Amino acid sequence: MRAVGLHADVVVAVSRAYQTTCTLVRSGNEAFCVDSPVFPDELEILPAIAEQSSFPVVGLLATHADWDHLLGRYAFPEAPLGTAESTAARLINQPGAAQRELRAFDEETYVERPPLSLPGAQSLPVPGHCGIGELELELHPADGHTEDGMAVWVPWARVLVAGDYLSPVEIPMLSPGGSASAYLATLARLEPLVEQAEYVVPGHGAPVDGTRAAAILREDRGYVEALLERGAEAKLPLARRTAAQRKIHAENVARVAA
Ligand SMILES: [Zn+2]
Repeated sequence: MRAVGLHADVVVAVSRAYQTTCTLVRSGNEAFCVDSPVFPDELEILPAIAEQSSFPVVGLLATHADWDHLLGRYAFPEAPLGTAESTAARLINQPGAAQRELRAFDEETYVERPPLSLPGAQSLPVPGHCGIGELELELHPADGHTEDGMAVWVPWARVLVAGDYLSPVEIPMLSPGGSASAYLATLARLEPLVEQAEYVVPGHGAPVDGTRAAAILREDRGYVEALLERGAEAKLPLARRTAAQRKIHAENVARVAA
């Protein structure tokens, strides 16, 4: 697992699975862990990474309720989980879904680990603020990929933790509950933050600087608009045309047609 410092108060670890990102954010004597890496060895080493960088993790945040972003409790079992209300509702309305999907991934990849225990999530105000140390994180709604979600803006570091948007490795993905129009609205909402950002941390893929993130945003908007207009004929962004991305595209086409 790669770990990279983006700012004195922001460290990002990138998982070997799907390049899923985990962001540690600190202010004073408090740090939060936003989303999670996936493999057990990566989760095991995370507390040591936090400790070495003097990031005392007191809470977990999840950008959305997809299973691969919810594994922070394996690393920090005592830390409470905070999410957007939309995500807390999804966790309640789809009980056991994250556990089932994690188990399916583990069976597929021959990974063994104890079952995931997910506490009830504390709902955070989105849009709104979330105190950390002496400072505040800004929380912005980020639905469209799924029905729930939030992006986290770290004002003093000018880092945007975007959730599953603005990825250099994954095309826009409309999961069950996702929506192309909501996706476009989220891109429009994130755009002014991207313009001020030093770095953007996508849910999947290494962090990108603000200029690159703005270029990805334009490509993603173009793709989603084309998906709505032309369905299967929509062209995939040039750097994201692998077999895996074409499969996501086919699922997007089906979602938009439904
Ligand atoms: Zn994801």
